[in-house]
Amino acid sequence: MSADAERQLARLRARFHQKAQQLPKLGFVIRGTIIERFSRCGSLGCGCHDDPPRLHGPYWQWTAKVNGKTVTRNLSDHQVERYREWMDNALRVDQLVHELHELSAQADEVLRTLEREAAAPKKKNRPNPSRRSGRAGSPHPTASGTSASDARRP
Ligand SMILES: [Zn+2]
Repeated sequence: MSADAERQLARLRARFHQKAQQLPKLGFVIRGTIIERFSRCGSLGCGCHDDPPRLHGPYWQWTAKVNGKTVTRNLSDHQVERYREWMDNALRVDQLVHELHELSAQADEVLRTLEREAAAPKKKNRPNPSRRSGRAGSPHPTASGTSASDARRP
C-alpha cells in the first residue's frame, strides 16, 4: 500500500473513531414532531367561544409514526422538554451515523482504488483478465518510499 493511501486511511479511521466515540455520550432518542395546539372547551360562556376567541392552550402534542401507525400524545410542559431533548439526541445520532457512512464510503473509495491497481498493475500493455483472477493479491513486501523509483524501472 502506498504511503499516501495509508495516510488517507489512517486519517479516515481516526475521524471515524472520533465520531463513533460521541455516540455513547448521547442519551435516549425519540422521533416525531411536537406541535402547539390551542382548543375550545365545551363551556359556551368561556372566553374560548368569544369573538375573537381566547383559546385554551397552548397544549403540546407529540405525533410520530410507530410501526406504521400514527401515534399522538399530549405532553405536559415538563414532558415537552424531555421529548425535545430526546429528539435532539435522535438528530445527533442520525447525523453521526450519516457521517460514519460518509467516512466509510471514502475509505472504501481509497481501498477500491488500491484493489483495482493491485488487480491490474499499471503497464503500457492491456491488463490480461485471465491473469491472476479472483481475490486481491497480498500487499507487496517492498519497503515504503522506494516503490516510486521501482515503478519507473523499464
Ligand atoms: Zn373554554
